[in-house]
Amino acid sequence: MKLEYIVVSDLDGTLLDHHTYAWNAAQQALDLLKSRHIPLILCSSKTAAEILPIRKALDIQDPFIAENGAAVYVPAADTDGNKHERVEFGMNRADILSILQTIKGSDEGNTFSFTGFSDMTLSDLMEATGLDEESAGKAMQREYGEPLQWQDTEEHLTQFQQILNRFGLDTLQGGRFLHVSAGCDKGKAVNWLKNYYLEKTGVSYQVIALGDSENDISMLELADIAVLIKSPVKAFPVLNHEHVLRTTGYGPVGWNEALLELLNKKQGTQ
Ligand SMILES: [Mg+2]
Repeated sequence: MKLEYIVVSDLDGTLLDHHTYAWNAAQQALDLLKSRHIPLILCSSKTAAEILPIRKALDIQDPFIAENGAAVYVPAADTDGNKHERVEFGMNRADILSILQTIKGSDEGNTFSFTGFSDMTLSDLMEATGLDEESAGKAMQREYGEPLQWQDTEEHLTQFQQILNRFGLDTLQGGRFLHVSAGCDKGKAVNWLKNYYLEKTGVSYQVIALGDSENDISMLELADIAVLIKSPVKAFPVLNHEHVLRTTGYGPVGWNEALLELLNKKQGTQ
């Protein structure tokens, strides 16, 4: 099997428009990936329940990464892409929630002001994200981490992060939420998949990764080519990389622009 590239992409604010969650502006590049048989690995802070229908609508059967790298889903060998084997990296959510409760109840933690998914109703989440009821329900089906809205000062956030670290927990800043998790990031999961493809194909290939936020950095650092997608709500995150492209278009517009440029350039020089 010949494999020239694998593309690993964040969803919110990257392939999906930050405000509308639409990806139609990226259709040309999506078609090009398909015609060149380039795998498209969706790598998101979203849950598997949220990613599966998006992946189906995109008509792709490639592996995907859920909840910020907490789990990699690989299609089972003997099925049509609907059954998956799961490789887990993250601590389970019940344990994380119990640590957060402990922190909230402690003397040093009881003044911090934040709201987690577990404190929100479905309509709270719909309001915070703009998701419809069905999608918000799927977003609630988290298995590994807890996304928070931080409603306190930067100084308290630093203190909170130090306390989390003592419990073995980390935070990752996504487009909308501060994600509390343990033992995982997108980079670890992508690294696992790089080896998976290497074993499967036995050929070297280039990894193109696309993202817009801090929680994409570990994934972008591992890629041969990193694409930073312009966000309508914040500046590009800091990334040290030899081969980085910063898009001029937002979200899926930038996604389309970057992949067409990279893939057509390569084809033109062959
Ligand atoms: Mg994003």
